[in-house]
Amino acid sequence: MSKKSKFQRPAGMHDVLSGNQRYFQKIYNICKNIADFYRFQEIATPILESTELFSKGIGMTTDIVQKQMFTLRTKGGDYLTLRPEFTPGVIRAYIEHGMQNLPQPVKLYSLGPVFRYEHPQAGRYRQFNQFNLEVIGEGNPVIDAQIIQIFYTILKELKIKNLLVEINSIGDNQCRPYYKKLLTNYLKSRESALCSDCRRRLRENPLRVLDCKEDKCQRVVSQAPQIIDHLCEECHRHFKSVLEFLDEIDLPYHLNPYLVRGLDYYTKTVFEIFSIEKEKTEAEGVSSKIALVAGGRYNNLVKLLGGEDIPAVGAALGVERIVNLLKVKSGEAKEKEVYPVFLAQLGNLAKRKGLKLLEDFRKAKILVAEALGRDSLKAQLKTADKLGVKYTLLLGQKESLEGVVIIRDMKTGKQEIVKLGKIVKEMKRRLKK
Ligand code: AMP
Repeated sequence: MSKKSKFQRPAGMHDVLSGNQRYFQKIYNICKNIADFYRFQEIATPILESTELFSKGIGMTTDIVQKQMFTLRTKGGDYLTLRPEFTPGVIRAYIEHGMQNLPQPVKLYSLGPVFRYEHPQAGRYRQFNQFNLEVIGEGNPVIDAQIIQIFYTILKELKIKNLLVEINSIGDNQCRPYYKKLLTNYLKSRESALCSDCRRRLRENPLRVLDCKEDKCQRVVSQAPQIIDHLCEECHRHFKSVLEFLDEIDLPYHLNPYLVRGLDYYTKTVFEIFSIEKEKTEAEGVSSKIALVAGGRYNNLVKLLGGEDIPAVGAALGVERIVNLLKVKSGEAKEKEVYPVFLAQLGNLAKRKGLKLLEDFRKAKILVAEALGRDSLKAQLKTADKLGVKYTLLLGQKESLEGVVIIRDMKTGKQEIVKLGKIVKEMKRRLKK
C-alpha cells in the first residue's frame, strides 16, 4: 500500500483516471448522438448559480435545498450554489436569453457535473455527472412519452439490462391541493407510525412521505389514498394519453402510484428508470433497484422563475451509476491499446528527427507510440512489445545521419531500411494490408 498522501480528494468526489475515461466517453457519445437525432441543441450553463434560483425553483422544503446544497458567499456578499441539478439553470437561461421568442419547443441538452451534499456511499456521490434533456414550450403528452422513450433508448444502446420504467402523475394546481389535504388527514391519523423525518415532512411537504424508504413508513403509505384516483379531468386525460403513447411504442412501464419525486416543480407526469440488479443472494430472490434516470413535466417552473406561462418536460441520467454497471459487465477488462507502430530512437540527433517524424505521422492519422525521453533501446523495445505493435521504427545515430529508418516487423523479426522521407507513405501502405 502506498503511503497516505498529504492531500486527498474531498469526500464523495472522484478522480476519473484514464482507465475509466472510456466508459464516460461511450456514454457521452451515445447520449449526444441520440440527442442530435432528436434535434436537441447543447447548452452549457455556469456550474454556480444564485442560491435563490435553486431554493425558489426546486422548493424550500425539498431535501436538495434543505440539506444538499454546496453554497458559498462571494466577496461581494452574494450567495451562490454549485448546481445540484440542471433544470433551474437551463430555465434561467431560457428566460434570460428570450428563448420564448424562438420557434417552440426549445429542446436543450446539457452534460456535466452536479453537486449534492449527500452521505457518500456506493453510487451516491457529492460530485457526479448528469446528462440532461429539457423540452420547453410544449405541453402535449406525446413529448412526455418521447422523453421517456429517448432515455430508454439510450440505456438500451448502452446494453443496460433489466430496465424498469416507473411512472405516475402527481396532478397540477387544480387537483393536487385537494389530494394533499386527503393525504395529510390520512397520514395524521397514522402519525405515530411514521419516522421522524416523515413527521416533519407531514407538516412541510406531505407528498414526500410517499417515497420514504423506511419500512414502517412504506407500511403506512401502502394504505394511503392514491393521487391517480383524484386527478382532475385535464390531468387524467394527459396521463392516459402518455400511457397510450408508451403502449403504442411497446415501451414497458409500471404504474407506481406513490412515485412523487423529490422536487416541488413537477406537474402531471413523473417517471424514473431503474436497473434491477439481482444480488449475490439470488437464491433468496433479493434484488435491488438502481435509479438511473428521473424526470417529469414541470409546467409551472418557467413562470415561477419569472418567465411566461410556458410548459416544459425534462429528465436527467446519472452517468456514474451507468459507468459502474458497464464496469461490472466488462469485468474491468482492459481495452488493448491500438497503436500499430512504435518509434524507437537512440541519440540526440535521432530524438530531433523523431520529434519531427511523429508530427508527420499525426498528420497522416497513423497512431505511433514513442518514448522520446528514454535513452535505452532495450527499454524502448520492451515498451513496444507491451503495446503489441505490429512495427517498430528504429532510428539511431547512423540512420539519422544517412536519412533512413529501419522498419522492424515485430512478428517475423524481419528488418528493412527505408528513406526517412518515404516512411510515412510506406507505413500507410503496410497498415492498409
Ligand atoms: P435526480 O436529479 O435526483 O432525479 O437524479 C437523476 C439521476 O442522477 C438518478 O437517477 C441517478 O442516476 C443520478 N444520481 C442522483 N443522485 C446521485 C448521487 N448522489 N450520486 C450519483 N448519482 C446520482
